[in-house]
Amino acid sequence: MKKSYNQKKESKLKSWKEIPIGGVIEEAGNSINYETGSWRTFRPVIIPEKCIGCMLCYLYCPESTILLEKDEKFVYRVKGFDLEHCKGCGICANVCPVKAIEMKVESDFKNDDKDKEKTDKTKIEKN
Ligand code: SF4
Ligand code: SF4
Repeated sequence: MKKSYNQKKESKLKSWKEIPIGGVIEEAGNSINYETGSWRTFRPVIIPEKCIGCMLCYLYCPESTILLEKDEKFVYRVKGFDLEHCKGCGICANVCPVKAIEMKVESDFKNDDKDKEKTDKTKIEKN
């Protein structure tokens, strides 16, 4: 029998017995396994025409959530952010020398996310 979207999401959560004592992080880089994007209050938004591909945001982002793409001149530029893991710290916007990243209030995107959730749910149910 296929699992529903909520059942799949719940089955990913750890019980209190599985969480290390004191919340100690035993394995480096394990944040990829958690949806830390839900902590966000502000969301980074790229203004593509301003990005000069200096990569400062990529270097400084503590979550490695900057997504890149190569342009026609083989220069890497920011195409977006991994929003499942971006915590909205704003470091990327602060270090950008040309102000190509704006931090916007997360609640402004509430309706966009509802649409995305519906799409994701449909995808999961199809699998
Ligand atoms: S807001 Fe913080 S976590 Fe998100 S992309 Fe920018 S630097 Fe990374
Ligand atoms: S710091 Fe700004 S200009 Fe540099 S790659 Fe990031 S968004 Fe583009």
